[in-house]
Amino acid sequence: MADTKSCCAKETCFDCRFWTEKIRWAADGDQMPGNYSQGPVPVARVNGRHYVVKPMNTTTPHQFLGFGGALWTFLFKDGREITSNDVMTQGEIPAHFRNRLPDNAVIVPQAAPRAKAPFSDFEGLL
Ligand SMILES: [Zn+2]
Repeated sequence: MADTKSCCAKETCFDCRFWTEKIRWAADGDQMPGNYSQGPVPVARVNGRHYVVKPMNTTTPHQFLGFGGALWTFLFKDGREITSNDVMTQGEIPAHFRNRLPDNAVIVPQAAPRAKAPFSDFEGLL
């Protein structure tokens, strides 16, 4: 069983301030306040990890996107399903904050890529 005590009595260290900010986001409807034109950014918590699900971004080179532009789909407990290619993780939520930052979503596996390229009929001819 993990230690569920806070790391410091008044929760004023860097880690505590980092995670108490995430608790405010959770209380604010599981959203990160932001200056994105699309408005606040959804926050997902899956298996004790914290994610910020930024809007799909088709204009920025993939190497500058979260997880290199990998596609993620989150299914939230309220039924929303959000797919993004710009997901950031804030890491694992410390044990003593888990009860204040419960999971609110699951990750939906991406569809498997096509087994064959569309031009596979020509394989071996060149
Ligand atoms: Zn602390």
